[in-house]
Amino acid sequence: MAEKITMSADGVLQVPDSPIIPFIEGDGTGIDIWPAAQKVLDAAAKKYGKRVQWHEVLAGEKAFNETGNWLPEETLVAFREYLIGIKGPLTTPIGGGFRSLNVALRQILDLYACVRPVRWFQGVPSPVKHPELVDMVIFRENSEDVYKGLELAAGTKEADLLIDFVRENFGWDVRDHSALGLKPISEFGSKRLIRAALNYAVERGREGVMLVHKGNIQKYTEGAFMKWGYELVKEEFDDVAVSWADCHGKPGSKILVQDVIADIALQQVLTRPAEYDVIATMNLNGDYMSDALAAQVGGIGIAPGANINYVTGHGIFEATHGTAPKYAGQDKVNPGSVLLSGVLMFEHLGWIDAANDIVKALEATIAEGIVTYDFARLMEGATEVKCSEFASAIVDRL
Ligand code: NAP
Repeated sequence: MAEKITMSADGVLQVPDSPIIPFIEGDGTGIDIWPAAQKVLDAAAKKYGKRVQWHEVLAGEKAFNETGNWLPEETLVAFREYLIGIKGPLTTPIGGGFRSLNVALRQILDLYACVRPVRWFQGVPSPVKHPELVDMVIFRENSEDVYKGLELAAGTKEADLLIDFVRENFGWDVRDHSALGLKPISEFGSKRLIRAALNYAVERGREGVMLVHKGNIQKYTEGAFMKWGYELVKEEFDDVAVSWADCHGKPGSKILVQDVIADIALQQVLTRPAEYDVIATMNLNGDYMSDALAAQVGGIGIAPGANINYVTGHGIFEATHGTAPKYAGQDKVNPGSVLLSGVLMFEHLGWIDAANDIVKALEATIAEGIVTYDFARLMEGATEVKCSEFASAIVDRL
């Protein structure tokens, strides 16, 4: 019988063999990639006596067409109640009252950690010489920084008021007619994100956590993120992790925590990828880093993601690309992103064997040159297949 996933008092997910998991099919190519991914996820789960009871909830265009609401309350209720969910891409409504439905979901459920694993799968075309050295997991803060949307347009009454205020009270030299934005970075927000990254590193046996920041210039925001990160290592992870300063690069069996300036980090993830493992960073840096890294290992057609609150247990796993409307309904695009988001979800639920099986089957499929159009155009001698055929080929290799 299908049951809810729950969270125990000590913060551990309790996952039944047949959990109820809400899903948003997604707009545009969501109608192609979601059924393909679901087929593979179901086949892999079945091998281990598990069965997901998928529960469709609406958001985006499908929700708007059926209910007149882009993000119906029932959808939020379902994600709150069932804790873990998965979604395809959503159209950003123009003038619909939301900056973005994805951002709205993250904010409403306080999904503070955006988790993006970036690794290469054998056979996937890549623009770099050694994509096999890329194996990183980005923890991007989701609730603060410039994405919080605290912006004032130039020339508005509010912007002029704030300009006058900071000139008079702080002696700040701000030009007339400037647009302004606030970049809040809190100790609470930074530490909970870095804690999530460190816990992940401990649980998955990873060797290092890199704090990526721009603290050389933005000393009290990005610099504080780094400082709070090192504080947290001492306060809560002393037995399992150590900072570079405290061990001079010799961490022994502990996780090595280091920091790096964001611009150098974007160079080094290209030139010295093996030196990067788990990455913890604020929102904007994380945005740039996840796309730049995804490009090294096959692009957005195959990049998975999750947004998680490790305290409440809520998590939404998601395709990281958009709706690619020009391909919608053509059974053409790569289902890899939403499928690998499902793999990430299975790992999060503790269904490690099923997750590993999917990755192996996906690798075997690509290694045989059976790929969707996006990879086929970059590979010599590949067999281009449809989205649904790609999923069937993976199922055949499970
Ligand atoms: P997009 O939908 O991500 O598409 C951009 C390009 O990425 C596509 O033209 C295609 O490249 C490639 N691509 C996307 N999905 C792919 C897949 N599954 N397999 C292979 N290639 C894929 O970005 P967009 O056109 O800027 O945005 C369209 C809509 O999506 C907008 O409404 C936007 O707001 C929304 N959006 C949603 C999310 C989300 O829900 N998480 C994220 C980003 C954007 P080629 O044409 O070169 O093959």
